[in-house]
Amino acid sequence: MAIASGARPVVGVLALQGDVREHAAMLESAGARALPVRRERELSEVDGLVLPGGESTTMSRLLETFELLEPLRERIAGGLPTFGSCAGMILLARQALDGRPDQQQLGGLDVVVRRNAFGRQVDSFEADLDFRGIDGGPVHAVFIRAPWVEKTGDGVEVLAEVPEIPGAPEVAARIVAVRQGAVLATAFHPELTGDERVHRLFVDIVREA
Ligand code: GLN
Repeated sequence: MAIASGARPVVGVLALQGDVREHAAMLESAGARALPVRRERELSEVDGLVLPGGESTTMSRLLETFELLEPLRERIAGGLPTFGSCAGMILLARQALDGRPDQQQLGGLDVVVRRNAFGRQVDSFEADLDFRGIDGGPVHAVFIRAPWVEKTGDGVEVLAEVPEIPGAPEVAARIVAVRQGAVLATAFHPELTGDERVHRLFVDIVREA
């Protein structure tokens, strides 16, 4: 059932590793109540979930240690609105190239991503993105050893691509933001720039779900 537009949905932030506090602060200013999630019980209380940036191989291992891997897969498969940024995007992908052989995927996004994809040309960089569905000018994006999306399935909407970057022609037009139903993912870190628009978009997705 949809949540009324003024109501504050409860949005969890997976709090095993990574930039949890930054996401929680952005969610709060975007109109949600943020809840750190480390246990299955906490997961059962949220209307939506953010998977933060960090290190996807470490997070995958911690998800197993904290016995969250299967519960999380089930909730995402059941339609839980989920937003993954950077390492979170990698976790949500159907397949991760250049991952570790034992790295686990949560699924939810019918995409193939490449880990540390920009590293060959530009390890970390910033760019202004034209982001479909976000008004008010370009979104300034911070990329830190980011993945890119190499393949998208039929149900996946491409929301943003890398513009031309001087000195790195190979990275232009790489896909860095996607949405499939209630699952949103960005290769960059919208929690680091003080611009709440991506979090607002996600909170709207949570309200509509
Ligand atoms: N390179 C990291 C990984 O593979 C992601 C980096 C990030 O989240 N900033 O998980």
